[in-house]
Amino acid sequence: MNESKENNNVKCSFCGREGDEVASMVAGPDVYICDICIRTSVDILKNNLAAYNTKKERPKNLTPDMIKKSLDEHVIGQENAKRVLSVAVYNHYKRINTSNSFFELDDVEIEKSNILLMGPTGVGKTLIAQTLAKILDVPFAIADATTLTEAGYVGDDVETVLVRLLQAADYNLEKAQKGIIYIDEIDKIARKSESTSITRDVSGEGVQQALLKILEGTVAGVPPRGGRKHPEQSLININTKNILFVVGGAFDGIEPIISSRIKKNVMGFDTDFTKAHQEQRDQLLTYIQPEDLLKYGLIPELIGRLPIIAPLHSLDNEALKNILVQPKNAIIKQFKKLFLMEGVELEFDDNALEEIVEKAIERKTGARALRSIVEGVLLNIMYDLPTMENIEKCLITGDTITKGEDPVYIKSDRKSA
Ligand code: ADP
Repeated sequence: MNESKENNNVKCSFCGREGDEVASMVAGPDVYICDICIRTSVDILKNNLAAYNTKKERPKNLTPDMIKKSLDEHVIGQENAKRVLSVAVYNHYKRINTSNSFFELDDVEIEKSNILLMGPTGVGKTLIAQTLAKILDVPFAIADATTLTEAGYVGDDVETVLVRLLQAADYNLEKAQKGIIYIDEIDKIARKSESTSITRDVSGEGVQQALLKILEGTVAGVPPRGGRKHPEQSLININTKNILFVVGGAFDGIEPIISSRIKKNVMGFDTDFTKAHQEQRDQLLTYIQPEDLLKYGLIPELIGRLPIIAPLHSLDNEALKNILVQPKNAIIKQFKKLFLMEGVELEFDDNALEEIVEKAIERKTGARALRSIVEGVLLNIMYDLPTMENIEKCLITGDTITKGEDPVYIKSDRKSA
């Protein structure tokens, strides 16, 4: 292939333009293509490639292994929970997407398996649920159980969660009915005592009942644009039968219930956050049984609707460090990109990463604290950088984190500022 020497006497084999009508003509054996057709072809190729990649990213038949591998790209650790969820979600969508009449003829109805994620704050419960929705390309909504009330009370009634899901599905009812809803802090609406004495605290039980209804599968009429229902308004009927509910909670204080059942002596728990206690707690949670949840104060019907229980473990130093740098959308990657837009390479040395992790551990909110710590450290730097000249690289060290010292700025003439 070469550029035609006698541009003027040839015609583009694709569009028929003559050599003097175009800027350039590429010749092959007995064929010519002009620069206009080449550009058009490139556009077509780009579009086709994008369509191909989208298809590739969302294969229709995801296997549990594919789901788990996609989760791995975003969620560090939590191997067991990721495995359990990959299978649960695979089965769930197989159940609702199978339109084979052979399976509909028999009397076996596969029931929905909603999921309970158990684990301390900031260890990835919401992230897992949210990432699953992304992988499966289904709408996703989050609610906090503590803000939910029974219908008719002040606060969000349980059905507003369905409105949120409908919104996330762009008001496509069919899509919404196959979405995922994550309900956080389910443990906070547990009855305070198992006993049935008249002094028992029944707070939360009404909300549990209301949640139970939508978890089991019901048709709920919701006002199309949210807000409160009123009589003249036409309602959208959402069927919750195929909505997957993932509920999460820390279940503080459940350890003695589990340990007394398995007759294991454990150290005191309270607010002790030492590593040994955390490990012991993680270990105990792996023995969780539905009866422990009953003792904790969840109503039996609700427990029955949460057949899959996945405990999540607390995150150790190494996991937190990995969270900073490894996930597809890792915090450090995000800031690196932001700095690159300023023409500056951002780097954290190993000490810096370790100090960030130490600070996060002090805050006792799992990985949740990482972002705000990094934000805090980089704030002044991001303030100064746009007015500084010739900065090529910005190296964050341990002292930047612990003592607030300036980072090492490397100028493009290779001298430190
Ligand atoms: P919770 O367990 O309280 O629901 P989240 O999932 O909301 O915690 O975590 C808060 C943030 O911390 C997430 O947005 C994510 O950035 C980070 N995070 C927590 N756990 C993990 C994890 N295992 N892997 C990667 N990031 C995590």
